[in-house]
Amino acid sequence: MSCFFHSIEKNVDKELRQQLKKLVSNSSFDVKKMGIGLSGGKDSSVALFLLNKFCNERGIELIGLSVDEGIENYRSASLDCAKAFCDKLKVRMNIFSYKDLIGMTLGELLINNPPAASPCSPCGILRRRSLNQMAKLSGVDCLILGHNLDDFAQTILMNHARGDVARLIRMAPHQYVQPGFVPRLLPLRRIPEQEVYLYAILKEMVFHDGDCPYAGKAQRNLFRKTLLELEHKQPGTRHSLLSGMEKIRANSGPPIKLSSCPSCGEPSGGSGPCVFCRDFSSFTV
Ligand code: SF4
Repeated sequence: MSCFFHSIEKNVDKELRQQLKKLVSNSSFDVKKMGIGLSGGKDSSVALFLLNKFCNERGIELIGLSVDEGIENYRSASLDCAKAFCDKLKVRMNIFSYKDLIGMTLGELLINNPPAASPCSPCGILRRRSLNQMAKLSGVDCLILGHNLDDFAQTILMNHARGDVARLIRMAPHQYVQPGFVPRLLPLRRIPEQEVYLYAILKEMVFHDGDCPYAGKAQRNLFRKTLLELEHKQPGTRHSLLSGMEKIRANSGPPIKLSSCPSCGEPSGGSGPCVFCRDFSSFTV
């Protein structure tokens, strides 16, 4: 068991040091304070556990950042787990809700404005905005997310399937600081989901093991299923997707600089209003 722990810890430590080194050398700044996105699930709990050790050893301040979508019978239980684990590790935790952002919970939004596609589309836009605002308000230099290898490979595959090379190049882990955007790092991106799960169980961590009630409607499910099949028939597919993405990025230079939304001033991928202002400006409180 100790070999398994050692291999996960070494992998995550190496990955985080490499990602930080690239970011810091390209952007010339010191990392004094880090934020970690916490859902209370296995991935962010393992990331918190390992990052806490990393930060303690280097005198870096760490703060937990959680988003409360207001999803009934789900989110409050998972945030209780995140809070309990933060208390145990003596890490401060801030929560930002969709209610703070748009004046209503995700459930209320879905009733008032049913989305044409999956509920995950508006939820993803609101989560990205909430996390960036929280990270900026908390004054962190970078934001750590607990995405595992399966999550990461699915996102790469989705971007390939859409032919969205610009987004592929812009994906975290970020190597450059963009104006108004807190860079995100993914130290667990080389660890398969099942290994993260096993690590959390063997370490007897406090984590929430439920699924969002809307998870079955996520577009990502098709890519998860396809990738599992590919991995089964052609082992190593997830790692190949990761290394292919790295090669594309290495040959494409720095990403295009994000512009500032003319309406809210937050970062925007194009010259017009950002996606949040396009979809949610009438709800902003
Ligand atoms: Fe939001 Fe979809 Fe995730 Fe549920 S599964 S929290 S709706 S993105």
